[in-house]
Amino acid sequence: MGSFSEFTYTLDRVRETSGKNEKVRLLSEYMRGLDAEDAELAARFATGRSSVKGSADETQIGYSTIMGVLEGLTGLSGREVGRVYVKYGDLGRVVEEILSAKKETTLFEETLTLKEVAQSFEAMTRAKGKGSSDMKKGHLKALLLRANGVEAKFLVKILTKEMRIGLVDGLVEEAIAKAYDTDRASVRETALLLGDIGLLAKRARLGELSGVRLELMRPTNFMLAEPMQTAEEIAAYFEGRPLDGEYKYDGVRAQVHKKGEKVKIFSRRLEEITASFPEVVEAARSIAYDFILDGEIVPFSKGSPLPFQLLQRRLRRIENFEAAMREAPVLYFCFDILLLDGEDLHQRPLRERREALGRIAAGAFREASMKKVSTGEEVEALFRLSRTSGYEGLVLKDPESPYTPGKRGKSWVKLKEELDTLDVVIVGAELGHGKRAGKISDYTFAVRDGESLKVIGKAYSGLTDKEIEDMMVKIKALTIEDDGYFRTVKPQLVIEVAFDSIQRSGRHDSGFALRFPRIKRIREDKGLGDIDNIQEVKKVFESQRVKVDEERR
Ligand code: AMP
Repeated sequence: MGSFSEFTYTLDRVRETSGKNEKVRLLSEYMRGLDAEDAELAARFATGRSSVKGSADETQIGYSTIMGVLEGLTGLSGREVGRVYVKYGDLGRVVEEILSAKKETTLFEETLTLKEVAQSFEAMTRAKGKGSSDMKKGHLKALLLRANGVEAKFLVKILTKEMRIGLVDGLVEEAIAKAYDTDRASVRETALLLGDIGLLAKRARLGELSGVRLELMRPTNFMLAEPMQTAEEIAAYFEGRPLDGEYKYDGVRAQVHKKGEKVKIFSRRLEEITASFPEVVEAARSIAYDFILDGEIVPFSKGSPLPFQLLQRRLRRIENFEAAMREAPVLYFCFDILLLDGEDLHQRPLRERREALGRIAAGAFREASMKKVSTGEEVEALFRLSRTSGYEGLVLKDPESPYTPGKRGKSWVKLKEELDTLDVVIVGAELGHGKRAGKISDYTFAVRDGESLKVIGKAYSGLTDKEIEDMMVKIKALTIEDDGYFRTVKPQLVIEVAFDSIQRSGRHDSGFALRFPRIKRIREDKGLGDIDNIQEVKKVFESQRVKVDEERR
């Protein structure tokens, strides 16, 4: 029986050491001793997840629930807990400190197991509707009462998805490879196909990695496109070979699985979003085959796409879902098929997959438009057509390429508006001025640099009043520190920013600054793992005709 205390003891040692190899060694040695089921849970929990990827619901335990339980357990006031919080900026460590002082409550209890923790998390997830908040609190309280300080710390870290032990997915994959004597490359490949790191650990433990296949109703990672700057660059890269030129649809990337009467829709982050799109489910049911399709759900009316923002209300499924459906009718533009009636097609060339897709798309399932292009002029002309028809740009695909889950390769390249945008994460916020006085509406944002984040600019324009209000609520909940003037915000909110150019600048720690940044949209579909990195910034900077070096002016 995998004990939770042994697991958390290992994670604490992983946290304390800064060397990556040592982290991998500690975790792999621990995992080697687990059975398949415990290996699944350990790998999942170690990456800060409480449920399998692709599940529709989560535990929904937030900061306020945890604070409430903590206050109830210890008799401390919110203010007193807050004081400890300021010391660490990490709720897990707060809980550890506070509960370690109350250790005697756990002395006569049986120690927790990984499986029991998983069962409690499931119970929290299942609690829904009226009274659910109290039920969730009850489950959390019961767990914390049985936990020692270190265990309590990690329970909270998993529930808040804030591990902060320097254990990115890649290192857990390495530990799995090492623990079960498998080569790193095949672990990586299988990880991308499987989507969920827990399932990966389980299959590796059972020695079944080579047998992993695509499976209906289990999401796989999406194939991604590499950005290129101009039509000429694209034509030159492919040496004039014919490409599939598709419109770049602006909606929600979606993988639709159908098996008999059952239909599931998964988002790009592999979350289940089926309930948000009943008409897509209906349309899927009307198709006679079983399948896994890839495409984009687009709000669409009278022959034209509608603004992407209209989908937000449907995704959140908040009040008045019927009205949201009427306001934003959708079509599913499918551009790929990975599995058809039990036949795995994902390694076949795109031209064959496209042919199969043509045979089944129907009704609200529209086949994405596709035109063969090979020269720079043809790419440019199709790009213009896409823009005048209300689309975002183009995705150009090599018709000979297989579908590679989770990879951003050059088999698919994207061409957006000339004016580029970057996906960045908000790391700080301030009160605005003028019309926005009193509202937290100036955002400081960052791009990725290896495993750290580097600030690249600040923006305040582009959001509607309603969006600013929504952002305020989120930013307050994610504030790590507030000095009255500047809030440091947990990096979670991804926004897409447009700008006129990039310049070198000593103002931010990235060494670059965006000129005239404005928020194009909030990217709820993206997480910290999806933001652009500093290489992308450098690439855009280098490709600019006029390179401004602020320091040299
Ligand atoms: P971006 O979100 O700007 O990084 O652009 C990549 C995204 O474009 C993909 O993740 C898809 O959601 C979306 N997309 C829109 N149309 C297509 C298409 N025809 N083929 C592939 N991806 C597409």
